[in-house]
Amino acid sequence: LFSGADLANLCNEAALLAARHNKEAVEEKDLEAAIERVIMGPEKKSRVMTKREKELTAIHEAGHAILSLLIPDVNPVTKVSIIPRGMAGGYTLTPPREDKAYHSKAELYGDIVVALGGRVSEELNFGDITTGAAHDLESATEIARKMVCDFGMSERLGNITLGKSHGPLFLGRDLVEEKNYSEATASIIDAEIKRIIDDCYSRAKKLIQENQEKLKLLANTLLEKEVLSGVEIRRMLGLTNPGISNANPPIQQS
Ligand code: ZN
Repeated sequence: LFSGADLANLCNEAALLAARHNKEAVEEKDLEAAIERVIMGPEKKSRVMTKREKELTAIHEAGHAILSLLIPDVNPVTKVSIIPRGMAGGYTLTPPREDKAYHSKAELYGDIVVALGGRVSEELNFGDITTGAAHDLESATEIARKMVCDFGMSERLGNITLGKSHGPLFLGRDLVEEKNYSEATASIIDAEIKRIIDDCYSRAKKLIQENQEKLKLLANTLLEKEVLSGVEIRRMLGLTNPGISNANPPIQQS
């Protein structure tokens, strides 16, 4: 996830934050804040958002957060913020619960459903969609593409790896991935990616429709408080990610 330069930047940022609060040592909280700053840019409390923009952001982030608590296979939300940061109007953090070398098909499906939650909530509550979901759609598509091309998770294409077999080649100025499949296969790949995304979109829509009241409660509370922790959200909504046992409190809280 991070390059060496990013990590140095991260540690530096965490040390600065700790120093700013007159602490003698860097605490986990400082590192968390530094990660948010390095990944998403500094908070922009002064950036003026219209009332509608704020409402859209709250509904969008609430969509991600709720789905992360309804789907058993994904990482549950630890923090939601609607304070603008970098290019984003708001953000939802769902850090991994544990280090895992492997991810199941169900987990990857779940990740796509959560990624689509923002757009689905906008559509259901505003009857319109915004460009705010561009990055979500990009990551959803990338996961689906990997499922089909790298992990052999498409039943139609089977257990094969498609493309990237010899790494990227430079042809002139363009970076071209070497293809080891035909144009016919390429169109099946596109169809499979679309099918996965469409399936996940329907699942996200159904879950959000069934939990509209909770979604609105969360969005309204966000408008009032701007930042909520995963624990606060779970307590407020009475939701527990079915994948986490109640006996184990979440590792990360903010
Ligand atoms: Zn989003």
